[in-house]
Amino acid sequence: MKTVMRSSLGRKSLLAVMLGLLAFAAQPAAAEERAKDLFGAKKLPAAIASQSIGFYSKGCFAGGVAIPMDGPTWEVMRPSRNRRWGHPAMIAVIEKLSRDAAADGWPGLLIGDISQPRGGPMMTGHASHQIGLDADIWLTPMPSRPLSMAQREGMSATLMVDEKTHLVKDALWTPAHTRLLQRAAGYPEVERILVNPGIKKKLCDTVKGDRDWLRKIRPFWGHDYHFHMRIGCQPGSPNCKAQEATPADDGCGKPLAWWFTQEPWRPNKNPDAPKARDLMTMANLPKECRAVLDAPGPASAEAATYHGGSVPVAAAAPEPEAPSLPATTASGAAGLPTSVNAFTATPEIGIPLPRPRPGN
Ligand SMILES: [Zn+2]
Repeated sequence: MKTVMRSSLGRKSLLAVMLGLLAFAAQPAAAEERAKDLFGAKKLPAAIASQSIGFYSKGCFAGGVAIPMDGPTWEVMRPSRNRRWGHPAMIAVIEKLSRDAAADGWPGLLIGDISQPRGGPMMTGHASHQIGLDADIWLTPMPSRPLSMAQREGMSATLMVDEKTHLVKDALWTPAHTRLLQRAAGYPEVERILVNPGIKKKLCDTVKGDRDWLRKIRPFWGHDYHFHMRIGCQPGSPNCKAQEATPADDGCGKPLAWWFTQEPWRPNKNPDAPKARDLMTMANLPKECRAVLDAPGPASAEAATYHGGSVPVAAAAPEPEAPSLPATTASGAAGLPTSVNAFTATPEIGIPLPRPRPGN
């Protein structure tokens, strides 16, 4: 029995090696290094002034800070991925949301992927999350007992949407979920929140009174166990490329109806085709990303961990005193603006067409 198993395993691994060699041989001899390999290998941020460079799905960022693994009102999930990094303003918004949500009755945030230490394309997963301004937050509230590191790696998130009907499972959706999304969408620095179309529909069908915030809630594939919070380009990032503003209406009309037709759910004709993030080389990214890659890092992850606590979010200005970062995060402090007005109206551009899947 033992011998049989070993020989069958042996054959399988030999086959795997041969396939690997074939794949290697198929690559052009002078293939440029892929950006996702270079950025994926960085364990620490670039210790220079905080700055987002490029677009959400094609860029990088400097001066990143990490959210602590644990806070009074949050826990970082999947810690081994090392994706708890973001622009200081992003980390501050997440911490603020965790506090406000707790006050609203949501026990705390389970935080999914933010960005790699220097952003850039990732080895797995997301198309966006490249410039430190995107964060995934679970739609599962933080449990009352602290999660061990093993639980954070392995615990499953709750699937909120029926995969056949694309509607929210009514037994799982609570008013607290709605309040959490409303709270996040209410922040001026949050430009959009991506959710599954079923969740958008649930909000469209149930939110009474103030519905203005619904315009920031955008339907997208996936996002059925977490929501994706995106903030705008921050001051001090001249090379950050803003996205189109959301339409001014609540988005509950025609664009949402499209999601409940067959079209968005047709099987991908070419599911194995490489994705943009798989092909990107340094030449495809903004040229400043080379300097981000080459910049020195801080002494340790702890040295670049954001302990802002009640430090006001930069964009929540005007503040009487300049917000400050701990001295250890010199990288972030230089880039964190002292006073910014994020309350200015964003221009209204036409209804953005749904982008091709995946991409979050
Ligand atoms: Zn996301």
